[in-house]
Amino acid sequence: MTKGRKNHYYLAMLVTSLISVAADVIAVQLDKFGPGNVVAKYIFHTAFLLSHNLISPLYMVYLIARTDTWHKLKWSKLLKGALYIPIFTVMLALLTNPLTKIMFYFDGNDTYTRGSCFLLLHIVAIFYVFFGTIYLWHYRKLFNKVSFISLMSVIPFIMIASIIQLFFPWCIVELFATSCGLLFISMMVQRPEDTIDITTGLGRDSAYIDDLQRAFANEKPMQIIMINIANYGAIFDMLGLSGLNKLFKIVADRLVELDKTEHIQSSIYNLGNGKFSMVVDFRNFDKVEKAANKLNDIMKKDFIVNQMELNLISYICLVKCPQDITDLNLLLAFENDLSKKTYTGDIMYASDVYKKEYYDIMTEIDTIIDHALANHKFNVYYQPIYSVTEQRFNSAEALLRLNDDKYGFISPELFIPAAEKSGAIHKIGAYVLEEVCSFIASDEYKSLGLDYIEINLSVSQCMQNNLANEVLDTLNKYHVSTDQINLEITETAASDSQKIMNENLDILNKAGVHFSLDDFGTGYSNIKRIASLPLDIIKLDKSFTKLEENPKLQIILQNTINMIKDMDMKIVVEGVETEELVKYFSHLECEYIQGYYYSKPIPKNDFVTFIRASIQ
Ligand code: C2E
Ligand code: MG
Ligand code: MG
Repeated sequence: MTKGRKNHYYLAMLVTSLISVAADVIAVQLDKFGPGNVVAKYIFHTAFLLSHNLISPLYMVYLIARTDTWHKLKWSKLLKGALYIPIFTVMLALLTNPLTKIMFYFDGNDTYTRGSCFLLLHIVAIFYVFFGTIYLWHYRKLFNKVSFISLMSVIPFIMIASIIQLFFPWCIVELFATSCGLLFISMMVQRPEDTIDITTGLGRDSAYIDDLQRAFANEKPMQIIMINIANYGAIFDMLGLSGLNKLFKIVADRLVELDKTEHIQSSIYNLGNGKFSMVVDFRNFDKVEKAANKLNDIMKKDFIVNQMELNLISYICLVKCPQDITDLNLLLAFENDLSKKTYTGDIMYASDVYKKEYYDIMTEIDTIIDHALANHKFNVYYQPIYSVTEQRFNSAEALLRLNDDKYGFISPELFIPAAEKSGAIHKIGAYVLEEVCSFIASDEYKSLGLDYIEINLSVSQCMQNNLANEVLDTLNKYHVSTDQINLEITETAASDSQKIMNENLDILNKAGVHFSLDDFGTGYSNIKRIASLPLDIIKLDKSFTKLEENPKLQIILQNTINMIKDMDMKIVVEGVETEELVKYFSHLECEYIQGYYYSKPIPKNDFVTFIRASIQ
C-alpha cells in the first residue's frame, strides 16, 4: 500500500492517527495519576494534539492526491498558502504552548485544563474539512460513485464525533470515529486488491487506465517510460506461468530499484503480457531520459529464472503527454503496438515513432468503413497474374482499395483487420464479390480470355455461417460459373480447423469452387491440415523473393516447391519485382507469377486495357 502518492498520504493518516491514539491513552493515564509529572503531561498532551490536528490537513492533501490535481495547485500560491497557514499556526501555537499556555495548561492540582485559544484547534479542523468537502465536490467526476459517497460520508461522521467530544470532554469518541472513518476508506476507496498486482506488487492495468484517465482529464503533464517485452510469449512457453511470474517479479524489482536510484518518484505498473509502465510527474521531468536509458541497459542484462539465463527483447519508449499523445485510447493502442516496430536496441521516443494519423484512422476506422460503404469509396483493383507455362496473363487477383475523403488512400493492411474486428468485413466481402461477378459477367471481360479471378477471403469471413450460400447465390445472380472464381484463404485460416469453416469450404468445394492458399510461408504451416484442404493453388508469400544468397534457404524453397508439386497443386509466386526473380522462379517451374514486375493492382478499366495490350 505504500506505492504512489495517494497511498503515501493514506499511510501518513494511519500512522498519525496511531500516534495520536497512543499519545492520548498515555496522556489520559498520566492525568489519572493525579498531581505531578507535569513535563510528561505536557509532552504527551502536546503530542496528542499535534498529531490529532495533522489528520484533517492530511486528509485534505490525500484528496488532492486522489484527484491527481497537484499540478494545478502548483500555480496558485494563494491556494497553497491557504492550505498550509492554518496548520502551521496551530503547530506553532502548540509547540510554544508550554510558555504561552493559550491552548491548554495544568492548574494548581496539575489537572489538564483547556486554554483560551483551545477552540482554534476545532476551527482549523473544520476549515480543512470544509475545504476538503468543496474540493471533493468540485472534482466529483473523477471518482466513481462508491468512492465519492464513501469519502463524502466520512466527513460528517467525524464532525459529529468531534462536536460530541467538544461539548462532552469525558466522551472520547472522536479518535474512535476517525479510526472507523479510515477503516471505511480503506475498504471502500483504497481497495489495494483493485489496484495492486499481487505477483509484482506494482500497480495493475486497471489502476493504470484509471490514473491516466484522471491525468488526461486534468491536463496533467507527465512522461511515461513504456516497457514492452516482445519475446514474453516464447518465455511463457518455456517457463510456464509460474516461471513467467518469477521473471516479472525480477523485472518489477529492477524497475523499483531504478526508480529509487534515479529519484524519479514514478508510479510503476504491470500491464500484463510483458508490458510495464513508469509514469513520472512534472517534478522529475529532468531525470526521465537518463532513467530510460539506464533502464534500457538494465533490461539487456540476463535474467536468471529456474537456473535459465534469459535474454529479453525489451522495447523502451519515452512518451511525453500531452505533447506526443493527448488521448488515453490512443496511448494504449500505441503501447500495444510498440513491439511491432523494428528493434534497434536504443530507447525510442514517441515524438519520432508515434504516427498520429495511423492512430486517428484506427480510432475512426469503423466510421470510415461505414462511410465508404454508403458513399462508394471502395474500389476493386485487379493485379494480373502471369502464367509461365502458357506465356500469357491467365488470371488476376481482386484487391480492395479505400479512398477516404479525409485521409486519402488507406491500405487494406489497415482496414481489413479493423473490419474483421468490427464485423464490417462481411459487407465488404459481399461488395467485392458482387463487383468481381459483375465484371466477369460483362462482355469486356469475356474478350480478355482470362480463366478466373482470385478473391481474398479473410478468416472471419470463413467463419460466417451462411458464407457458402451467399457466395453461390451471388454467382447465380450474375450467371458466373464456380470455376470462374478462385477463393484465396490465408494460412491462419487454413491451420485453424473450425467446424463452420470446414462446412463452408466443403459446400463451396462440392459446388465446384476452387481455392488458393494465400501467403504461404508466413505463418507456421500445418502441412497435415493443408494437405486435407481442397486447395488447387499455393501462393508463395513475397518473403520468398527475399531469400537472397542464403543457400540453405534456397534448398528449403526448392524442396517446398517440389513438395507442393508432388501434392498436385500449382504455385503462384507473389511479390515478384524483377526480371531475375521471374527467371529464377520460372526455372524452378512455378506455374504463375504475380508482382509489380508485370503490374501493380490497377483499376478495372486500366486492367482491361493492360490485358488487351498483352494479347496483341
Ligand atoms: P494479399 O492477398 O497477399 O495480396 C497481395 C498484396 O501484395 C497486395 O497488397 C499487393 O498489392 C501486394 N503486391 C503485389 N505484388 C507486389 C510486389 O511485387 N511487391 C510488393 N511489395 N507488394 C506486392 P494490398 O493490395 O495492399 O493488400 C494487402 C492485403 O489485404 C492482401 O494481401 C489481402 O490479404 C488483404 N486484402 C486486399 N483486398 C482484400 C479483399 O477484398 N478482401 C479481403 N478479405 N482481404 C483483402
Ligand atoms: Mg491474396
Ligand atoms: Mg498474399
